[in-house]
Amino acid sequence: MAWDFETDPEFDAKLGWAREFVDTEIVPLEGLPKHIRHDQDKIDEITAPLKDKVREQGLWATHLKPELGGMGFGQVQLGLQNEILGRCSFAPRVFGVNAPDTGNAELLAEGATPEQKERWMQPLLDGKLRSGFSMTEPHTPGSDPTQLDTTAVRDGDEWVINGRKWFTSNGSMADFLLSMVVTNPEVEPLHRTSMFIVPTDTPGLNIVRDVPVMSHPEHETGEPGGHTEVAYDNVRIPHEMLVGGDEGVGQGFVLAQKRLGPGRIHHAMRWLGQSRRAFDMMCERALSREAHGGKLADKQIIQDWIAESEAEMRAAKLLTLQAAWHMDKHGASQSRVEIAIIKFWGAKVLFNVIDRAIQVHGALGITTDMPLESMYRAARAARIYDGPDEVHKVTTSRRILKTYSGVGDGLPTEHITYRRAAAQEKFGEYLEKYTADAIL
Ligand SMILES: Cc1cc2nc3c(=O)[nH]c(=O)nc-3n(C[C@H](O)[C@H](O)[C@H](O)COP(=O)(O)OP(=O)(O)OC[C@H]3O[C@@H](n4cnc5c(N)ncnc54)[C@H](O)[C@@H]3O)c2cc1C
Repeated sequence: MAWDFETDPEFDAKLGWAREFVDTEIVPLEGLPKHIRHDQDKIDEITAPLKDKVREQGLWATHLKPELGGMGFGQVQLGLQNEILGRCSFAPRVFGVNAPDTGNAELLAEGATPEQKERWMQPLLDGKLRSGFSMTEPHTPGSDPTQLDTTAVRDGDEWVINGRKWFTSNGSMADFLLSMVVTNPEVEPLHRTSMFIVPTDTPGLNIVRDVPVMSHPEHETGEPGGHTEVAYDNVRIPHEMLVGGDEGVGQGFVLAQKRLGPGRIHHAMRWLGQSRRAFDMMCERALSREAHGGKLADKQIIQDWIAESEAEMRAAKLLTLQAAWHMDKHGASQSRVEIAIIKFWGAKVLFNVIDRAIQVHGALGITTDMPLESMYRAARAARIYDGPDEVHKVTTSRRILKTYSGVGDGLPTEHITYRRAAAQEKFGEYLEKYTADAIL
């Protein structure tokens, strides 16, 4: 029987290197002035030597299969690595595992034709192209993509796309978008959509704006990390840009799922990295600040927050690693419940821990002198992107309920009537004996 919580020593050493590297070489990027931090070309120049060091360690783009130049890490190893990279928002890019490019590369690896892989996937993996994933629309519910209404209509050897998307992360700095659009509104909802590779310089593809959000209220269009609104106005693209070619028609949902399963595990682990960083700050502050005759660390309510946070993070980590293990063993489609649980549970833990860390810092916690306030603002979105909490709870409970059945108008199966009957059946002789003894 196998039941193991140990990390292979060789891999553990790699994780140790990554942890040290993130804290000493990457976190200092956060101290750069905004005009440098928000300029992707400058950040690319500054981080180029860091990326070389990551490559030397064999830790570049570890999500890739070996035949694509990666390390072929399974989800458990990727999860552990992402926990470390989650400490700092710059780290995933320095390690070549940044969203949305990783998910998009996975989608292309699974569904693209050999020519599409060579032209779009390989440069993406090499960090030479940037991509966006363009599914959500402002006027239809992202949580129910069966209602998407951006369309692609076949016209000879071309498709003509019309509609509007938003929250296409990194869309304004991407070279191409993977656009999920309706190709046949007549068929059943899960087969209506297809996925297209749409270069962002295609005529008719108009970047409307990056939508400022609570984590980046002053974001300007074109800066890294934007959530882009995109108008598709008669965008004409050749048939060979349909992901998967002829076989890709109607495969939009299947392909979208390919990128979402692993992505959610990596998100959940990166949230743990963020939570741990907030927790580290909370503990340091609790041991530093004195109030009402003693250190904050000596107050029981602060001890409660520290203990609750540690327990929540450990539980979330175990849940996430178990989901990763399940996915490695049984595949993404058999791991829906595991993945759905960590998506909503992990987001809650992230939010709770940062919130407590802010509280322990008092006024300092909400100042921009500390990273906590921006971590807090970013954490809020975790309950919405890649599917809102409610949808994951619905998935979880629906699948669990399928393993149960009701009793209609009958008594609950645990009713005392049935338990008495069962006791009579199993232990009738004792019942008779002890009842007789009692009468005597
Ligand atoms: C930071 C960020 C990055 C994103 N990046 C991308 C990206 O790169 N590409 C992309 O295509 N999209 C992206 N999105 C969009 C994201 O996937 C959607 O916001 C999400 O799927 C929810 O869709 P919606 O916003 O349209 O909300 P709606 O679908 O309108 O849902 C609104 C609310 O309704 C409730 N709800 C929905 N369904 C149920 C239900 N079954 N039961 C109970 N309540 C329910 C929930 O509370 C939900 O929050 C991003 C979003 C954020 C915040």
